[in-house]
Amino acid sequence: MSGRESRYLRDELHQVANQILEEARTHNCEYIAFENLKHIRERAPPVKEFHRWAHRQLVDLVEYKAEADGISVGFVDSKNTSRRCPECGHTSEGNRVRQAEFECESCGATQNADYVGAKNVGWRFVRRGLQSSRRTGDSQLALKSGTVTPNRGFVPSD
Ligand SMILES: [Zn+2]
Repeated sequence: MSGRESRYLRDELHQVANQILEEARTHNCEYIAFENLKHIRERAPPVKEFHRWAHRQLVDLVEYKAEADGISVGFVDSKNTSRRCPECGHTSEGNRVRQAEFECESCGATQNADYVGAKNVGWRFVRRGLQSSRRTGDSQLALKSGTVTPNRGFVPSD
């Protein structure tokens, strides 16, 4: 990358990080969850080195900015986050119709595939809290369009 391209990219990543932090502050979040891309192999097309780099940069930025606000950053396994239906839990490769599109084979729910991934990451994070001594078990997960709770699934905001 040229110097200009990499500056542009860093600016973009800063903006995305700021947006994530802003949303976390708006909803009084204690945690921001990311999926751990270390073991990511299920994505199609496979995550390239560049995406890995950009993800790492973004995570570093968010961690740095979040620390100043007393917000923790957590990670969950990325396994099946793009294949699991957030509505009914059905997990299948066939749920992923296209790269950008998710349609559940079982319940028919259709959603943006990235949004499905984000819901599953959050769900996995709050769910993990139920099975451990961490306090996240009774918490809610803030998403732009609603919240995810460990037991009730996704609830759209008003
Ligand atoms: Zn479903």
